[in-house]
Amino acid sequence: MPADDSNPQLKQKKMPTFLSSALSVLIKAAVLLMLLFVFDRLLPSISQHTQSFVIAKWQQLSLLQQEPPTENSLPSPLPEQHLTDTWGAARSQGRSHEGIDIFAARGTPIRATTQGIVSKVGENTLGGRVVVVVGPGGAGHYYAHLEDYADISPNDWVDAGDIIGYVGDSGNAKGTPPHVHYGIYINGSAVNPYPLLQKN
Ligand SMILES: [Zn+2]
Repeated sequence: MPADDSNPQLKQKKMPTFLSSALSVLIKAAVLLMLLFVFDRLLPSISQHTQSFVIAKWQQLSLLQQEPPTENSLPSPLPEQHLTDTWGAARSQGRSHEGIDIFAARGTPIRATTQGIVSKVGENTLGGRVVVVVGPGGAGHYYAHLEDYADISPNDWVDAGDIIGYVGDSGNAKGTPPHVHYGIYINGSAVNPYPLLQKN
């Protein structure tokens, strides 16, 4: 007896096969659409993240390759204010002054003296509210006794002249005339910022 396609048993078998293959195509299409949707949402953020990571690394490398600050090369963090060399002055507990103090009215904007990467926006006991920027040559630029910070966070890039915070008397300067304590650290050692700053 030849194979009979009209055999109701065979027909019953064909219908589910057709349905299941149609269903599997539909499921595949749905999964594909979902994946496309997810990638569409995800990819731009991944590539943006990768981009900013690569840019940050490139900036760090180029910073390290630049020369650390030289004499009279840095704009003042408080350009309108008179500079005095207070480096090395005696401080409490036998410490000597590892930086210079520049006085100005409370709330005066403090400007970055170099381009660089913000490495700290936070508090310590002596400095109160402080900002640290790592600049050319890997030099650390330390701004202390801030009243408040500018809208910056660690790993942000700043250019020379950008506002990083505001003059205050936080930390062990509490109750003294508001000023910024500005320190520069090259290869981990404090150096006198005064000769490196431009004088008006
Ligand atoms: Zn100081």
